[in-house]
Amino acid sequence: MQDQIEKDTVIRIRRALLAWYGRNARVLPWRGTRDPYAIWVAEIMLQQTRIDQGTPYFERFIKAFPTVEALAEASEDAVLKLWEGLGYYSRARNLHRAAKLVAFERGGAFPATAAEWQALPGVGRYTAGAIASIAFNEVAPVLDGNVKRVLSRLFDIAAPIDRPATERQLWALAETLVAPRRPGDFNQAMMELGATVCVPKAPSCGTCPVRRWCRAAERGTQAERPVKGKKAAVPHYEIVVAAIEKNGRFLLGKRPPNGLLGGLWEFPGGKVQTAESHAEALEREIREELGVAIRVGGLAAVVNHAYSHFKVTLNVYRCAIKSGAPQPKTHTALKWVPRAHFDRYAFPKANHKFLGAL
Ligand code: SF4
Repeated sequence: MQDQIEKDTVIRIRRALLAWYGRNARVLPWRGTRDPYAIWVAEIMLQQTRIDQGTPYFERFIKAFPTVEALAEASEDAVLKLWEGLGYYSRARNLHRAAKLVAFERGGAFPATAAEWQALPGVGRYTAGAIASIAFNEVAPVLDGNVKRVLSRLFDIAAPIDRPATERQLWALAETLVAPRRPGDFNQAMMELGATVCVPKAPSCGTCPVRRWCRAAERGTQAERPVKGKKAAVPHYEIVVAAIEKNGRFLLGKRPPNGLLGGLWEFPGGKVQTAESHAEALEREIREELGVAIRVGGLAAVVNHAYSHFKVTLNVYRCAIKSGAPQPKTHTALKWVPRAHFDRYAFPKANHKFLGAL
């Protein structure tokens, strides 16, 4: 496909986009800096997160950990607490691990090329391209959701964008287009165009700086691009949660470091299995997780929560230990925590929805 774009068109698209970006770039706290650390944090934080949601998180994070050394020396709990509510917690854990590598094994020296950045945990081709082009002026492309949408419309790509072949085609297009003298600005301009003009529903083609070259606008197919593959049905799970209380303290468990919500604190519990009552499921889950028998009391809250690939309904019951001393069989640690100290722990968002009811 990139062979089909004339060199002259590529140059004109670059010019039009860069001029538009110069006039329209939003002022954001990580723009106007070439500090690789701040750009890195912003790029990791803003994956799968809207800018308006991510901005206050970025500001708090940079204030707490202003340098890669400060982040490297922080505890995982402190890092996760500042990430709490953003989701995709592996991003925070990988960022923390990578900061330790940079601070302790590279003597604080950041990688300088996209290829070197990609060797760090949690840094994929997109993030590496963004950091290398913005902070180090390397002519490296980026391809995030916004850029995919812009390119699939600009070149009217009818193949589903989640296919590996289409993804390769999109990377090749991004590579062809990226401006050799201002790669960082060009990449940000593409992302900005996708975020503010070439938006998913009803793109503002009338004010778009690349309208003249847009094949989808010419053919009227914008609403059909990008084409996405069929999504699998989202499963729903019924979950029981034990708010186990003793002397005004609740029993919390820390999730293992890897996997969903790794390193966060939670109330113990789990999935209800077929033909189990809520009380039976809770008694079984708590026996498996903590090795104790419990008395299941009243229902304290019912909350619904959607993750990216499944939905849950959490049924929270007040419980008390009947016999045994709790052991962390599936958690890495257990703690009895008074209600007033909940804000010191990083909880999954779904747990936050019922804390008020306890
Ligand atoms: S003309 Fe419309 S569809 Fe094409 S890139 Fe611009 S906003 Fe998107």
